[in-house]
Amino acid sequence: MVETKIKCSFCNENAVTRIGYAKLWLCKEHFIQFIEKKVFNTFKRYGLGGKNWRILAAVSGGKDSVSMLYILHKLSKDIGFELIALHIDLGIGEYSKISREVVENLCKSLGIPLIVLDLKELTGFNLPEMVSKTKRPPCSLCGLIKRYLINVAAQELKANAVALGHHLDDLIPYIIKNFVLQNLFEISKLGPKTDTLNGLVGRIRPLYEVSEDEIMLYAYLAKLPFVQNECPYSARKGLEKTIREFINNAEKRHPGFKIAFARSIAKNIEIYKNIGKEEPLKQCKICQSPSNSEICSFCKITAKVAGKPLGSEVKTKIAQLHLLNLNHTSTT
Ligand SMILES: [Zn+2]
Ligand SMILES: [Zn+2]
Repeated sequence: MVETKIKCSFCNENAVTRIGYAKLWLCKEHFIQFIEKKVFNTFKRYGLGGKNWRILAAVSGGKDSVSMLYILHKLSKDIGFELIALHIDLGIGEYSKISREVVENLCKSLGIPLIVLDLKELTGFNLPEMVSKTKRPPCSLCGLIKRYLINVAAQELKANAVALGHHLDDLIPYIIKNFVLQNLFEISKLGPKTDTLNGLVGRIRPLYEVSEDEIMLYAYLAKLPFVQNECPYSARKGLEKTIREFINNAEKRHPGFKIAFARSIAKNIEIYKNIGKEEPLKQCKICQSPSNSEICSFCKITAKVAGKPLGSEVKTKIAQLHLLNLNHTSTT
């Protein structure tokens, strides 16, 4: 936030921030409107959702997903889609406890139906226990578990899309990193939208054109509750960190660089889909979920942790859970 006596470009209030690429000074109210309008335009521009869609929003409790949920809640009325929130409790001590509370309270106050998937309840193990049993890096383990559970829930709910809170500053470093390493097909998964394919429910990224600074300021000005602490496992290092510094410098010298880059990627996404195409997704032999190999990563990991693959069991438990929740929402 900038301390300034400069006036908002749209009204007489003092500006709280400057949007370099739009050459605007904005007061609190106009900044909030600016971000919400931007997400609305992102929806339209990339066809992220329409009337009567069912959108499942994955909400961790951090500023990004909380802001996304709050904006989607507003848009759901304008556009006419149904919004359901999903939170995954990984059981990472206090961090998970606080995150879950934040999401539960927010959904309650906004009247958004919420599904909580508790990893310990579903598998008998929380993330730290899985990490110590498998010796896998926590972030890759967390990523694969979340992807699996989110997809099962989305399939069960027959959701049209899963909304993820990734913003410009999450996506661009990965896009550039994949370009540098020439994993070109990976880039096709980092656009504003992926289609539902082979049992994998499509992803949408409503914050595709919003930067991390903008989301931070939005969450703060809209007085949204969010978990301040980062996940204790998270670490930004190596090549990704260098790329982040590079793109932030580029944005400073050339305002609008990030959005222009993201739009170009979105425009060329079909090209990336067809370069170095991976084999089509298979079905896991054990749990029938979409998988790159005969047995999916979730079944492989749980076999290591629990002594037997838990995919099918977990899917059954989730199917029962979601029915309870939907009955609940239809009566309120
Ligand atoms: Zn204003
Ligand atoms: Zn499986």
